[in-house]
Amino acid sequence: MRDVVFYEEMGPKIRCLVCIRRCLLSEGSLGYCGNYMNSGGKLVNVGYGIISAHESRPIEIKPLFHFYPGSTAYTFSGFGCNFACPWCQNHHLSKIYPSAGLGHYIAPNAIVRYAELAGDQGLCASFNEPAIHLEYISGVFEIGRKKGFYNVMVSNGSYTREALDRLIDSGLDAVSLDIKGCVEAYRRFQAIPDPFEVLKNARYALSRGVHIESVFLVVTGANDSPECIKWVIDKHIEYLGVETPLHINRYHPAYRYWEKPTSMETLLFAYRYALERGVHYVYIGNILETRYMHTYCPSCGHAVLKRSHYGLIKADLTDRNRCSKCGYRIRVVGKIYV
Ligand code: SF4
Repeated sequence: MRDVVFYEEMGPKIRCLVCIRRCLLSEGSLGYCGNYMNSGGKLVNVGYGIISAHESRPIEIKPLFHFYPGSTAYTFSGFGCNFACPWCQNHHLSKIYPSAGLGHYIAPNAIVRYAELAGDQGLCASFNEPAIHLEYISGVFEIGRKKGFYNVMVSNGSYTREALDRLIDSGLDAVSLDIKGCVEAYRRFQAIPDPFEVLKNARYALSRGVHIESVFLVVTGANDSPECIKWVIDKHIEYLGVETPLHINRYHPAYRYWEKPTSMETLLFAYRYALERGVHYVYIGNILETRYMHTYCPSCGHAVLKRSHYGLIKADLTDRNRCSKCGYRIRVVGKIYV
């Protein structure tokens, strides 16, 4: 267990201020995510350092396509989640509380040591929602930054502003950010984060120098109407700008949601709409075809970064990240490993 600073006293109860759920907790009760508890009028993290999975993975799998392309990040996760998407692809980790007795404790410096031994360039909090492991992840990131690693997260973007500041101050460099759908999908399912809160957080992180790539999982029957797709893409542009990469991902049935996988027609509709609206870097993920995973120069259309599932296989840029054909400056953060 670890004491937490982000809470406020509310009479005999306390309110957790780690994520936008802001759970109100009576003595001895756990929050929605199963990681934070009211213990003696203080907020404690009962899942601190209880790790469900850890391994070295390519940065492209996050997906982050414009951040240290071709590098690998030591990736780790805990248990639980602060939301309950019915189609969760990682429900075997996100729907289990740390108190279940699975996983084992790994100290923050040990995670960084694993990354060193694996020869990775970065660290990544992923698989379940990192926001609910705020203290642990901040600790890993602080150690990682001192040792020269980059720090990234795959997240639903639902932190409070205080928690987000803490993560950025600890050394957060990039986020692969899920935008779960439009307002209609949010109202219908209630189990996904408010898209406006997520977008505001993303815009704020961007303003503080964090690299962001949006991921829109297009789920059959949930957020795949033309209106919903257009709304998500329009908001991506409004809040994050056309230079921020957008990943349009195919859903596959999982957990409690069994509609058929997203049709290629729907994915292509979203892909083309995003390009028509001027988004510079658009991708389709979770499909067999690799041509939608390449980075094309927004100016001349040349394939400047070529990928296969999910690794970088070729870079055709100058040493200043300019297209080798027309000289257009391609948005890439960090060194390219190919
Ligand atoms: S981090 Fe957990 S306990 Fe805290 S507000 Fe979010 S869901 Fe509730």
